[in-house]
Amino acid sequence: MKKGKMPVEPYKIKSVEPIHKPSAKERERIIQDAGLNIFNIPGEKIFIDLLTDSGTSAMSHNQWAGMMRGDESYAGSQSYFRFEKSVQRISGFKHVIPTHQGRAAERILFQVLLRKGDYVPNNIHFDTTQANVKVREAYPVNLVVDEAYNPSVQSPFKGNMDVNKLRRFIQEKGKENIPLVMMTITNNSGGGQPVSMANIREVSQICREAGIPFFFDACRFAENVYFIKKREKGYGQKSLLNIAREMFSYVQGVTMSAKKDALVNIGGFIALQDDDLVQKIKNILIISEGFPTYGGLAGRDMEAISAGLDEVIEEEYLKHRIQQVHYLGKLLQEAGIPLYKPVGGHAVYILADQFLPHIPRHQFPGWALTVALYRESGIRAVEIGGVMFAFTDPQTGKKVFPPLEMVRLAIPRRVYTASHLHYVAEALEKIYKKRDKIKGLKIAYEPPYLRHFTVRMKELT
Ligand SMILES: *Cc1c(COP(=O)(O)O)cnc(C)c1O
Repeated sequence: MKKGKMPVEPYKIKSVEPIHKPSAKERERIIQDAGLNIFNIPGEKIFIDLLTDSGTSAMSHNQWAGMMRGDESYAGSQSYFRFEKSVQRISGFKHVIPTHQGRAAERILFQVLLRKGDYVPNNIHFDTTQANVKVREAYPVNLVVDEAYNPSVQSPFKGNMDVNKLRRFIQEKGKENIPLVMMTITNNSGGGQPVSMANIREVSQICREAGIPFFFDACRFAENVYFIKKREKGYGQKSLLNIAREMFSYVQGVTMSAKKDALVNIGGFIALQDDDLVQKIKNILIISEGFPTYGGLAGRDMEAISAGLDEVIEEEYLKHRIQQVHYLGKLLQEAGIPLYKPVGGHAVYILADQFLPHIPRHQFPGWALTVALYRESGIRAVEIGGVMFAFTDPQTGKKVFPPLEMVRLAIPRRVYTASHLHYVAEALEKIYKKRDKIKGLKIAYEPPYLRHFTVRMKELT
């Protein structure tokens, strides 16, 4: 395998956590005991863990120093004020409300804004966002551009909202039934693809004309900023901070999971401008998360988020981050492995139905590939396909499969080096060469909802 241009890590290692690869025989026993479900494997039995980029970041020395400085005052903690300042520096919002993670921010915002029967447009809802809309008996609607579902179109901003669809949707349902429009940056459920500044501006204009508040689901805002700088005309010379500030200037507020682009292991927040709305949010926050200067977090957590937000918007960090993910994509492409294109900001997505064309969709090729990957090399990846999303249509009684059958290799931030990525690429290349030996699967046990977490599988002979 060619090494190509290897991205050099802009950090050195100060504290290490040993990882261990179980023997082939052990791996076979472990995957069988797990019911062929990688969610059932203990973390210590994983060699390289690409299950998710959420809450898996390595913290910097500054973040750890902040942990020691944490002010654990119940009310008015200094750590809160530092955290508030860091969020304000990047976003420009007046009010900053801490929450224990992203989904709590969503729940609280929706509890204030949504009534039964309302609609919430988004490019594509993330699964917790979708669930939090549905819990309010409102309807989540995905209005991403069509090309998002075409894995071979090489276009720079496949996370964009389709503005014509949005205009039509507002006209059809009535602005009074749409309490907010959301936009997920980058678009996690659609290949981690970015949204352009032009698209953000246009959606913002449409929302302003209709009098509908516009919010970001901002989990990976910094990665989105980097793509705008690299790919959008007029932004190449602007600073990352200025691009972030412009992006946030088009929305009324954000929900954020700090477990992604705040480089921490737990935390989240809501940030917004409106004085009335923030009062309602605080009232709910106090009942369920905590006092508004800690909102379910320890003072030390807020210190870590504050330092993480300062670091995530640095050019050297972001350049390496995106290069690293794209480097893995390049290694896999050189090996002929079919990928969703272009590679996104936080993960590489393998097109599992093309990787294993002899396994039909109802025998779960994506899931079979995650099992093969653990067997071959102790690597954990996640299926985003038929097991996670297929459902039976209540009207026709037929199985409906999601448009894409994928395996996601999510890269934790600052955790793995280029040699780890080479190991991952080599493992996949080996599997690809003997792919016709991989067998399809059937479900042996399935729970009533979110079945991928606890499903048990059997291999077909
Ligand atoms: C992770 C994530 C969330 C939810 O955040 P949690 O911290 O996991 O609760 C919401 N939206 C997107 C796009 C995410 O990636």
